[in-house]
Amino acid sequence: MSQTSFDIQQAAVIGAGTMGRGIVMCLANAGITVQWVDNNPQMLEQALGTVADTYAHNVRQGRIDQGEADARIARISAAADYPAIRNVDLVIEAVYENLELKQKIFRELDGLLKPEALLASNTSALDIDAIAAATRRPSQVLGLHFFSPAHIMKLLEIVRGAQTSPAVLEAALTLGKRIGKVSVVSGNCHGFIGNRMLHPYVLEARKMLLEGAYPQQVDAALQGFGFAMGPFRMYDVVGIDLEWRARELAGKGQDAPEVQVDNRLCEMGRFGQKSGNGYYHYEPGSRQAEHDPEVDTLVLRVSEELGFQRREIGPEEILERCLLALVNEGAKILQEGIAGSAHDIDLVYLNGYGFPADKGGPMAWADQQGLADIHQRLLALQTRQGDQWQPARLVGELAAQGKRFAER
Ligand code: NAD
Repeated sequence: MSQTSFDIQQAAVIGAGTMGRGIVMCLANAGITVQWVDNNPQMLEQALGTVADTYAHNVRQGRIDQGEADARIARISAAADYPAIRNVDLVIEAVYENLELKQKIFRELDGLLKPEALLASNTSALDIDAIAAATRRPSQVLGLHFFSPAHIMKLLEIVRGAQTSPAVLEAALTLGKRIGKVSVVSGNCHGFIGNRMLHPYVLEARKMLLEGAYPQQVDAALQGFGFAMGPFRMYDVVGIDLEWRARELAGKGQDAPEVQVDNRLCEMGRFGQKSGNGYYHYEPGSRQAEHDPEVDTLVLRVSEELGFQRREIGPEEILERCLLALVNEGAKILQEGIAGSAHDIDLVYLNGYGFPADKGGPMAWADQQGLADIHQRLLALQTRQGDQWQPARLVGELAAQGKRFAER
């Protein structure tokens, strides 16, 4: 495609689940007409109802007037099939997290859409290049990773594939601005910036449950630091079952010691907030996380079954391990060029993961500590706990030069 600028007036969203609903509202709120496709007509019907209810609620709250609600709803229409959306400028796909399914949809859309149309996936972690490879327009394929709920959360990770063109990135940034998001461009790697960093952070939290801590203690330490939510409360909101099902589907990872508490909770039907029980208990209709001694008993039993000698784990250790896990992975993301700057990583954590605003983000926090100090602390953890703590090369280099991540 020789065209250098892409004008997005009409869009389509594929998938009417949790994410599709929020994405459709983001677009319609910004004046973009949206056609909506789901292969389950009941799901689409229900989703249109939820969107109408959300706007009605916004009117009751006085956030928009009835005329605006009507205009937004008028911009959204259900489409029966892919041929019906052939004239749109942009498609955002938000179906199940399954590479083959996404490739199949992209292949089919590529054959139908006009040559200048852009194709985006809302995948949380899958390989954008593998999705783009299913099309004959890889330079016009990208990730648009919204956060849940998509019409409320500020962050938009724009994922640049190996072949995504600068003009396409430019169009995505313009769209991000138009829909009121804080956009951050990320390179293509598993989990992109935010979820890739989340992985070692959560791993530490889960390991500490086995070593001696309880979910409430871990969450309290991180919330005390200023996080909007600790990791276990976050899992209750997201749904503990999502990763459990993904591990099941992939046929790997289910035996890892760290996920045994999650597995047991899921086997008990404790999926989180949506089922009234997860790491915490929720009274019917309430989102208030209440301490549940049954979960502590389960944690104790699982760690004993796995042969752990439990010990006291204080808030300092919880913070040290969780925060340094974030910082070290952030440094790797920076040295690999996945993120353009430390500030971009901070924007991701401030706007998508509830990192305390007054600390400026994980990389700014590390800069405040001093990178020589961070380097020493990572080395100390490496000595005590093993090579997963080996400091990222960039941490050592900047520490030796007396520099900060922000100066990179
Ligand atoms: P969901 O299960 O709530 O919804 C998926 C929808 O896709 C369903 O309505 C289903 O009927 C529809 N669908 C499935 N196959 C289809 C097909 N062939 N054609 C048309 N529609 C089809 O899923 P979700 O939570 O909205 O997640 C969607 C995507 O967004 C996934 O890739 C996920 O990883 C990503 N994501 C999810 C979250 C989150 O917090 N849920 C956050 C960011 C990104």
